[in-house]
Amino acid sequence: MKYVSTRGAAPILTFEGATLAGLADDGGLYLPAQWPQFSEGEIAAMAGLPYAELAARVMQPFVGDSLTADELAALCKQAYGRFSHAAVTPLTQFDEQQWLLELFHGPTLAFKDVALQLLGLLFEKFLTRSKDHLTIVGATSGDTGSAAIDAVAGRERIDIFMLHPKGRVSDVQRRQMTTVRAPNVHNIAIEGSFDDAQAMVKRVFRDPAMNSRFHIGAVNSINWARLMAQVVYYFAAALQLGAPRRKVAFSVPTGNFGDVFAGYVAARMGLPIERLIVATNINDILHRALSEGDYSAGTVTPTAAPSMDIQVSSNFERLLFDCGGRDGAAMAAQMAGFEADKAMRLTNAQRDGAAGLFTSARADASDMARAMRWASEACGEIIDPHTAIGLHAAREADLPREIPVVTLATAHPAKFPDAVERATGQRPQLPTRVGDLFAREEAYTELPGDYDAVTAFIAQRATPGS
Ligand SMILES: *Cc1c(COP(=O)(O)O)cnc(C)c1O
Repeated sequence: MKYVSTRGAAPILTFEGATLAGLADDGGLYLPAQWPQFSEGEIAAMAGLPYAELAARVMQPFVGDSLTADELAALCKQAYGRFSHAAVTPLTQFDEQQWLLELFHGPTLAFKDVALQLLGLLFEKFLTRSKDHLTIVGATSGDTGSAAIDAVAGRERIDIFMLHPKGRVSDVQRRQMTTVRAPNVHNIAIEGSFDDAQAMVKRVFRDPAMNSRFHIGAVNSINWARLMAQVVYYFAAALQLGAPRRKVAFSVPTGNFGDVFAGYVAARMGLPIERLIVATNINDILHRALSEGDYSAGTVTPTAAPSMDIQVSSNFERLLFDCGGRDGAAMAAQMAGFEADKAMRLTNAQRDGAAGLFTSARADASDMARAMRWASEACGEIIDPHTAIGLHAAREADLPREIPVVTLATAHPAKFPDAVERATGQRPQLPTRVGDLFAREEAYTELPGDYDAVTAFIAQRATPGS
């Protein structure tokens, strides 16, 4: 499989190259040159496979020659062996139409583990092969940071520098990052919002001085391998609910458009998906883009669902590229306009392409609390604020009775105990697998929102790569 950039001017890479590259050097994002297809018979034959085997089967066409089938199967077995639930991503029933896909059974209690546990192993495999060293620079709205740190802590050929917006992640989220004491882990609390931190990380990827010395790698969902790993649970859930015979809809709490883009990929591969519901909080750029064609960034308002407090959704570019005819030059021009004006209009082709599969909904604080209460009172399920936004959108979506609607449960409720307690009166307990999180000592560096300060900090501590 070959990988191309959404802006058409970066080298074409293999899966191994795209995994280690992160952002393309023309500023675009890597995507497979074409979508692999599964026939209805091939999808039907996946029913009942253990998760790790399903994962290897769904991902093999994307991996191509970069790993043998046995190597990929072994990595999947190792990555998903670390989950605390035998089904890895179990499905729970709410009522006759509504279902919940629990994606939080990994080590750091959010869906980010599903992709990052595998990505850590892929990095190690490829870096050992090429005897290279990777400097990961990432920005986190809370959950990517802890999942990435867990996945790479202590690995010899990797350093990780993780920026989180100071004071804007929950205590559990921050402690899951800052209490990991490994020499290759560097936490930075930075002034500003997640979008500021993400913009800084993107600048590092395009900085010739940094790139000539270090092999800079990405763990944010700009890294294609992350999205690839997330395609798998759409297959897992749909197969449980009767695919390929029966169509299924998904409601996805969305921030950077990574998770829901993985659902789009599943649909392009042949999984019969009726609809993908993009659920946002009041930071609703994606809702405005999908419902009105207006992709314009406002200022970020902090909410009880911090992992969705985003106004610039990196992966939306992948959708616009694919729906807009895969014209790299046109995409580069459109994104240059967005970077200048912080606003752009979707083209008719992009709007029509997205409208075939996506709808969107926006939930405010009371919608979110109501969904948490309904899950608790009507179904005995405690859900987290992000998941509640998805559930609100799922219940508002007017879908035919025979279409099951699966809300992606993106985080464990104990990651956000205050918001859950406010809404439901119940305080969720941290599972024992996170250990004595509140007793351990924290380590992180506070830096101003200043590019030169951040790159100087990284350059002093990172190992040069080839
Ligand atoms: C990251 C995250 C999201 C948003 O996912 P995207 O892939 O960025 O759209 C939603 N909920 C939780 C709990 C998250 O950690």
